[in-house]
Amino acid sequence: MSAPYDAIILGAGAAGLMCAARAGQRGRRVLVLERAEKPGKKILISGGGRCNFTNLGAGPANYLSQNPHFAKSALARYSARDFLELVEAYCIAWHEKTLGQLFCDGSAKQIVDMLLAECAKGDVDIRCGEEVRSVSHDEGFVVETAADRCTAASLVIATGGPSIPKMGATGFAYDLARQFGLKIVEPRPALVPLTLGGEEVLFREISGVSAPVVVEAGKGSFPEAALFTHRGLSGPAILQASSYWSPGETVVVDFLPGHSGDWLLDAKREMPRATLRSLLRDSLPQRLADILADKLGVEIELGNASDKALRAAQERLARWHFRPNGTEGFAKAEVTIGGISTAEISSKTMEAKRLPGLYAVGEAVDVTGWLGGYNFQWAWASGVAAGDVL
Ligand SMILES: Cc1cc2nc3c(=O)[nH]c(=O)nc-3n(C[C@H](O)[C@H](O)[C@H](O)COP(=O)(O)OP(=O)(O)OC[C@H]3O[C@@H](n4cnc5c(N)ncnc54)[C@H](O)[C@@H]3O)c2cc1C
Repeated sequence: MSAPYDAIILGAGAAGLMCAARAGQRGRRVLVLERAEKPGKKILISGGGRCNFTNLGAGPANYLSQNPHFAKSALARYSARDFLELVEAYCIAWHEKTLGQLFCDGSAKQIVDMLLAECAKGDVDIRCGEEVRSVSHDEGFVVETAADRCTAASLVIATGGPSIPKMGATGFAYDLARQFGLKIVEPRPALVPLTLGGEEVLFREISGVSAPVVVEAGKGSFPEAALFTHRGLSGPAILQASSYWSPGETVVVDFLPGHSGDWLLDAKREMPRATLRSLLRDSLPQRLADILADKLGVEIELGNASDKALRAAQERLARWHFRPNGTEGFAKAEVTIGGISTAEISSKTMEAKRLPGLYAVGEAVDVTGWLGGYNFQWAWASGVAAGDVL
């Protein structure tokens, strides 16, 4: 049995490593237990291997949670600029790709190495390949792995969500939280491709085609690219909208966000010999233009089409309703919506209200960011909030 630690952190992902580094550097004796053979596996594959490590615009409005105010405190106290300062202190070259999204110029491994160096500064003990078998609480927390029995006054749940089970992700955080009586908000896949069935399977024929559109679902509206796939819809705009979509609902796509007013009636006056198909081909990839023209069914020259028919086509192109029959599930979801209820934990410290000494950080908690570096910013900010107090 190991000598007692001040804190045991379960999970050496983004939130766990950040939390461990901060607590270690405050002089706390910290142990991190990681089931995988190496730390930060999701960081390594993130952002196409370049890690979209934060977003300059990250604020509470970019997160979904049953309590939309919950993330405010942690995000305000540890901002995107704070993380960027750390990145720059390690001379990691970075660039802004688009919409405030910051990526490494080199590789995501630089972020993992930086976090490990920060942990080393705090003498954090990181053990990989250690599957947690059981956790109990008496005066402190007792964690049993196959190799050891470890104790600590504080325990941090930083084991993430069940997205991408192929990488070893599980609902372990939820099982543990339930064991200690904490409520869970039903988890579901988010930032995930949507699948199409019925008549809409036709769109699968244009798999690989993408276009800049605006996608709306629920209260979310995203002007980014949509991609047609062999199973349905993907691309950044769809992934973003998926977090706001519920089964049975439609997602609404504006295929021509640059066109406003009665543009089709104007075109009828200016180019009466043109067809809807030829106009669509001017603004959209040809295969997409053709499938939309087929569905709209206005094949005659604009000059011979009625204003009513053109208005209807215009309206449909601006608000094309897709009714997805599902998502590609946790296997393809970048994150999980839901998780440990924010009603159970302090927004300032991430400590469980009903069990002092127990903390939850990162994706395990019911706070989910948009696509674009927001999820890592939550992992850093919530990790810091707990690491600075435990
Ligand atoms: C393909 C992909 C790309 C992504 N790209 C980005 C991006 O560019 N920018 C962005 O902001 N977000 C991105 N995300 C989301 C981001 O990776 C997560 O939101 C973030 O990693 C969550 O951090 P976390 O520390 O809470 O959980 P994780 O990083 O998932 O870490 C949890 C850790 O706990 C370990 N663990 C699990 N169970 C146990 C157990 N029983 N015992 C011990 N250890 C355990 C896991 O092995 C893991 O190492 C991406 C996600 C995916 C899947």
